[in-house]
Amino acid sequence: MIFRQFFDSASSTYTYLLASRYGGEALIIDPVLERVDRYLQLVRELDLNLVKVIDTHLHADHVTGSAVLRDRTHCITVMGEQTHADVISMRIADGERINIEGLSLEAVYTPGHTDDSYSFVMDDRVFTGDTLLIRGTGRTDFQNGDARAQYDSIFNKLLKLPGETLVYPAHDYKGDTVSTIWEERRFNPRLQVGSVEEYVELMNNLKLANPKMMDVAVPANMHVGLHQDEISRKGWAVMPAEAISLRGRPEVVFVDLREKNERARHGSIPGALHAPYADLQENIGKGGILHELAEATGKRIIFYCAFGERSAMAVQAAQDAGLKTACHIEGGINAWKKASGPMEQ
Ligand code: FE
Repeated sequence: MIFRQFFDSASSTYTYLLASRYGGEALIIDPVLERVDRYLQLVRELDLNLVKVIDTHLHADHVTGSAVLRDRTHCITVMGEQTHADVISMRIADGERINIEGLSLEAVYTPGHTDDSYSFVMDDRVFTGDTLLIRGTGRTDFQNGDARAQYDSIFNKLLKLPGETLVYPAHDYKGDTVSTIWEERRFNPRLQVGSVEEYVELMNNLKLANPKMMDVAVPANMHVGLHQDEISRKGWAVMPAEAISLRGRPEVVFVDLREKNERARHGSIPGALHAPYADLQENIGKGGILHELAEATGKRIIFYCAFGERSAMAVQAAQDAGLKTACHIEGGINAWKKASGPMEQ
């Protein structure tokens, strides 16, 4: 496995890069905008294909690098479904898995620092975001923070992991890089409390100053969505109402780019073809099923995904590959549902 921990000294943020092999798919957790070039340099050096980028929560102390990584690599941005960010390509819920080639992370909803905080468990380690830090815990006094919820997240979820589980937080201000669940249970001063009330009392009396980047970072991190208007200006977008009226037409085929678990959880458009975004290049290339479909039958391909981000990127790629009938549903299945489009489970 390839595992790298990057440090941004301005915000004391740790960013993680994971991949199962050189030349394979990679994933990044909590990228910092100013460090994006460094991540991409390593991605190139190790011949990796960045396919997903996760933010553990909406950060207040740095601007996320997710949107720029998406724009530069066409990777999928991932956050919890509770997030207040405008558009994230894939929103996950407690217990769902985030998969890339050779690796699988389990999402654990751990609110408290913010109401959109997630931790991610992978084999022998857990990425705890700002929920559990090394000998500390994330503050709970803004961004819908809640000390009571954090107590529950830490004591009833994270500390239930095996003691030897490695703890990789999103920050460290003292120079530590990794800990274990056992160590934190024993030596984290914030966790030596007898009750939830005692923890709430402790957290509510920290009297911390706001992070210096907060006024910049929070608004920036709320607007990370891909601008789909460019695709629309090129005439490659259909609005949900129009898409609904096109359903059932013989010359049209709907193509669902989402992953299996997203389809299972949110439903799909009846009769749609399933061709996950991860296999897009293969499918639109010569000999690929979408290429053949467009060439041989002249069918109009209408891509869709959850919110229109993956499909917007897919349209551009398909057009570049010569599939001139490719378009997408602006706003994805989320917009389709809002327009009362028919669904199948
Ligand atoms: Fe944070």
